[in-house]
This record gives sequence, C-alpha cells and structure tokens, in this order.
Amino acid sequence: MSLIGLHVSISGGFLKAIERGKAFGCEAIQIFTKNQLQWKAPSIPPSQGIAFLKALRESGIRKVVAHASYLINLASEGDQKRKSVEALIGELDRCDQLGIGELVLHPGAHLGLGEKRGVENLQDGLRCVLAKTSHLKVKILLETMAGQGTVLGARLELFREVLEGLGWDERLGLCLDSCHLHAAGYEFRERSSYEHFARSLEKVFGLSRIGCWHLNDSRAERGSLRDRHQHLGDGEVGLKFFSMILNDDRWEDVPLILETPKDGTGDAGNMALLRKLRGY
Ligand SMILES: [Zn+2]
Ligand SMILES: [Zn+2]
Repeated sequence: MSLIGLHVSISGGFLKAIERGKAFGCEAIQIFTKNQLQWKAPSIPPSQGIAFLKALRESGIRKVVAHASYLINLASEGDQKRKSVEALIGELDRCDQLGIGELVLHPGAHLGLGEKRGVENLQDGLRCVLAKTSHLKVKILLETMAGQGTVLGARLELFREVLEGLGWDERLGLCLDSCHLHAAGYEFRERSSYEHFARSLEKVFGLSRIGCWHLNDSRAERGSLRDRHQHLGDGEVGLKFFSMILNDDRWEDVPLILETPKDGTGDAGNMALLRKLRGY
C-alpha cells in the first residue's frame, strides 16, 4: 500500500506539523524543515529531534519527507551556487537531525546559461554536496518540473543524464509530480498510457529510485509547460489516473503527497477523495 498524505506547515513547531497531519488522517507528510524563503536556519537541537521522532511514532504517520527551500538553485553559478550548496548541506543535516530519510529538491533553473551548462552545474553541485555529507544517509529526491521559463527537469531524460553522470549514487532518487509531468507533456491518463509510463520509469530508473509522488491535478493543458496545481479530478489529469496510482502495488510504501490548493474542497476534501478512490 502507498502512503497518502499532505504537505503540512511547520508553523508553531515540528510537533504541530505532526498534529496537522494526524488531524487529516495522513499516512505520510511532507514538511519544510525551515522557513523556505530564508537562506539561514538554526540547527536542530538533539532534544527536538528526539521529541519529533517520539511524537511521530505515536501519531501513526509512517513516513515524513522534507522539501528543500525554493531558494536553492544548483543549476546556477557564482555566489548563488555557493549559497545553494551550503544551504543544501544544511537541509540534509536538518533532515538527519529529525530522522527524515528523504529530501525533495527542485533541479533548479539555468537562468539563461543554457540547459547544458545548467545540467553540468547541477551535477557538479550534487557531487559536491554528496561528498560533503557522505556521513549521512539522507537521500536527495530530484523533483520533475513543469518546465516554466529556464527551470530544468521537464524531461525525464535529464534526470537519467544527471544520475548517470553521478554514477547512479545510491543517495539520489526522484520525486514525481503528476501536475508537472502532465504540463511537461507526459501522458498517463488511460490504463494503457499509465502502464507504458510506469514501465518506462521502472526500466530507466528502477522503482526503488522513486521515493515520492506529488499528487496534483493540473489546471494547465498537457504540454503547456505551466505549473498550475488543481484539486484532484477538477483538472486536466482527471480522477482515473489518481485511482490507478492509488491501487498500484508498484508504489508500496511510497508517500503520495497532495500539494493541491487550499481553497474550495481543500485538504480534507482531497484526502477524502484519495481514501474513496483507494477503497478505504
Ligand atoms: Zn516541489
Ligand atoms: Zn508545482
């Protein structure tokens, strides 16, 4: 069984995030481990890490993934790259202190340098971060992107290239976002296209590399390269895909995390829909 859940706020502290997840019946949650709009963050004292793990065990939530700050851009150069490498090392440390095994990271934007250079920068940044954190087990899950502007990661081939360039390091994996994949042009809305897509993921990356899914419907059309999240079933992806993924054994123990809008049916409505589609 996959683990359904939400991205929850840490406002008020990490224990509050667990409470929020529990209130919605989450089996997995995603959190930022710091204010995602600031570079610096204080380190987490061991007592706080222990309290978090204890509360987590008691909550019934089986898995937590962290999402890295949006400021980090490993595809950049110069000062921004240097700050990004430093910040990512800090993020991995914070995950380790909280007992979190996976950190979702956007591959970054080349900002006009061109995709080739952006990918080289990304590889170089990841190599450096992995080397400097070799004492940690925390994995980095590179997230597939819609491809707006100069953002890298709309094509799965790019991830294959990055991973290959890093010798398929065991600490690297992927986070797949259904809204982003749809906007990037991938088709998986019918049984046959879904099977084809899932099998190609298995062949190219291996299922163990897929550490997380973001389940979002899309307001934007397939191939539009626009990142517009929508409530499940109210967008261009449609309920059939969500029903297929929820009932697919390939995603055993994989967190399926909602990042749907907070208005309208909201988190409660989208969580209820996931449970209904899964049958419990
Ligand atoms: Zn993301
Ligand atoms: Zn998005």
